Amino acid sequence: MQLDDTICAIATPVGEGGIGIVRVSGPDSQRLTSKIITLRRGIPLQTMKSHQLYLADVRVALLDSEMSSVHAAMKKIDEALVVHMRAPRSYTGEDVFEIHCHGGPLVLTMVCEALIQEGARLAEPGEFTRRAFLRGRLDLTQAEAVLDTIRATTSMSLQLAQEQLAGGLADTVERIRERLIRVLAHLEAGLDFVEEDITFLEQDELKETLMLIQGDISTLLKTAEHGRIIREGVNTAIIGRPNAGKSSLLNALLRTNRAIVSSIPGTTRDVLEEALTVNGILLRLRDTAGIREASDEIEEEGIRRSEEALKQAELLLLVIDASQDLAPEDIKLIQDSAKKKRVLILNKTDLPVKVHERDVEACLNEASVEDVNPDHTVLVPVSAKTHDGMDRLRQKIADVLIRDRRETRDSLLITRLRHKQALLSAQEAIVNALFAIEQEFSCDCVAVDLRASLQYLGEITGSTSTDDILDRVFSEFCIGK
Ligand code: GDP
Repeated sequence: MQLDDTICAIATPVGEGGIGIVRVSGPDSQRLTSKIITLRRGIPLQTMKSHQLYLADVRVALLDSEMSSVHAAMKKIDEALVVHMRAPRSYTGEDVFEIHCHGGPLVLTMVCEALIQEGARLAEPGEFTRRAFLRGRLDLTQAEAVLDTIRATTSMSLQLAQEQLAGGLADTVERIRERLIRVLAHLEAGLDFVEEDITFLEQDELKETLMLIQGDISTLLKTAEHGRIIREGVNTAIIGRPNAGKSSLLNALLRTNRAIVSSIPGTTRDVLEEALTVNGILLRLRDTAGIREASDEIEEEGIRRSEEALKQAELLLLVIDASQDLAPEDIKLIQDSAKKKRVLILNKTDLPVKVHERDVEACLNEASVEDVNPDHTVLVPVSAKTHDGMDRLRQKIADVLIRDRRETRDSLLITRLRHKQALLSAQEAIVNALFAIEQEFSCDCVAVDLRASLQYLGEITGSTSTDDILDRVFSEFCIGK
């Protein structure tokens, strides 16, 4: 990627807004900006103080329709506030200008086109942040946290992004890396003097240190599940027999917990999807139209939909009509959903109840499904009609998703698959190194594994990243960020 040219882009969303911002970054940003911006009171652009707003007129070349021949003249198209962030104290680490115009799509496009006309290049998606990374303003985990901040859907995911942006994850990974580098340095010093028979690090000490490092990596890895749930939300399905109250329950939850979710660029949002925030966790519910239609449908169709949802969802909300005896279909759904995280909801408790918690528990005990985690099932009586038990339901949903909530408050969480995979590879390399020591292989062999582990850890923060990794990380960004 070219780093020495000057890029520009509209940094605010497409459409009308109070203001819209065009960003310019690169060595030539001052000259280019001066072509279209005139500061008020005759202040020359090059005397602008860094990080201060100035009122200015925006002028671009427009074809003059009055003239018979094609003739462009500089015409005022807007007034704007302009700020210069002098290198290296800017987001990208380069000379940055921001032009805060009125937020009309035409004005912003004209400003951008005029800059391109003068020699700027339209930025690639994420290029401002990529430049910030390449100039050492951010590491890769922080760049990803910028994106997570933009995309956050719950206050919990936003907090997590902010911790990562503050460098929490990078610091932890770097500490592990530094320890590994010290071990490797000792080992390599030992390698150099191997003929003189100097052992710089005793074998036991080496093993012990590596096991501690492996322990630190595995502690981080244990947080990946919760981190992912908080960052991405959980694919959830509401299942149950027709008329059990699925649609009523969905409405009861949506009434107070509807989440704001925007579509990810390049994808169209599933219109049948609803999103809820339950105690800080985002639940994505697919095919909710199906739920809403299902009540007047034949039993089989309802069950078919439930079975489909059952396969795809990570969390199941299984609704049982407690005012009716347990039907064979209820029992089948209870048994078939045993391997998932699930909340068994005994609905319609405002009516005379025929199914009690103990009945469902008995049914659970009878179902002889292997490898079932008992922590993954909770049972809650509610009334979707009177909203009795809804608070408890929300609490139980959060509990079944995140067992130990303290863990998520006090410690750092891994949120991305990319980080998890790198940590797993780093851990595997350390296990290989320990094996090599155990087998009394040469120091060379151990060193190879340790270097591999370092490489994987470095990929997380970007200290040893390849273009391939950078392309993957920054391709998720939008233009102008
Ligand atoms: P679905 O087919 O599972 O989506 O069920 P609906 O939500 O459409 O509910 C079916 C019927 O049960 C409707 O007439 C609802 O008003 C009623 N219903 C749902 N929840 C409750 C509840 O908690 N108490 C009572 N009394 N009726 C309920």
